[in-house]
Amino acid sequence: MAKRPLMSGNWKMYMNTASGLDLVKSLKANCGDVKDRDILIFVPFTLLAPIAKELDGTNVWVGAQNMYFEKEGAFTGEISPLQILDTGAKWVLLGHSERRHVFGETNDLINKKLKSALAHGLKPVLCVGELLEEREGGKIEEVLKTQTKGGFKELSKEDAAKVVIAYEPVWAIGTGKTASPEDADEAHKIIREILASIYDQGTADNMRILYGGSVKPDNVDGLMAKPNIDGSLVGGASLKADGFTRIVKFQ
Ligand code: PEP
Repeated sequence: MAKRPLMSGNWKMYMNTASGLDLVKSLKANCGDVKDRDILIFVPFTLLAPIAKELDGTNVWVGAQNMYFEKEGAFTGEISPLQILDTGAKWVLLGHSERRHVFGETNDLINKKLKSALAHGLKPVLCVGELLEEREGGKIEEVLKTQTKGGFKELSKEDAAKVVIAYEPVWAIGTGKTASPEDADEAHKIIREILASIYDQGTADNMRILYGGSVKPDNVDGLMAKPNIDGSLVGGASLKADGFTRIVKFQ
């Protein structure tokens, strides 16, 4: 672990107002004493405003799970960066594998979203990661290169430095299969080398790269002990206050 960790949760399409507020009230109480790491949750659009209000002034930050790149317009069903900011949320998750593989998002679209988020002052977490067949076909490096270079296309060094990356091997998301700490660390190293080749070593070294994919209370410590792993993006295990608190408080 090289820098201040960022421990984040992705609620996906789960929770309602009552259960979401209950969960964040517990997190607030459990994590008020956490001083040496950052905490962030990505909640459904309908819960952004009430949860941002509940967490205002606390050390638990809130973000949206997706956005469109235009600031307004005839884009039925989409949500803009300005609308996210209007709820009080300051972060946005982009390029999650479910967006890429269920909804067909391309690197070009994700790149437009990333530029728009930064232009509007939203803090982005950009997800990258390979499918099982890509891993088995020895294509990890190629996939990470395409997704990272595609995502960061035409981004200045100053803007790139504001981005957090989440490495999420698709075969480990929601499956109970976690990358071993060694495999995850190796993939993070590859991503850092790609960033250094686009920008420079200093910029790459300073960027936070989170691991996501079946992170649980019983495997977080081993993952977070690795030098290239700067935090976690947690799906299923972020839906329970006690489990997520244990993950946030990894040792
Ligand atoms: C995720 O939703 O980004 C994720 C990593 O899910 P899970 O922890 O459930 O694998």
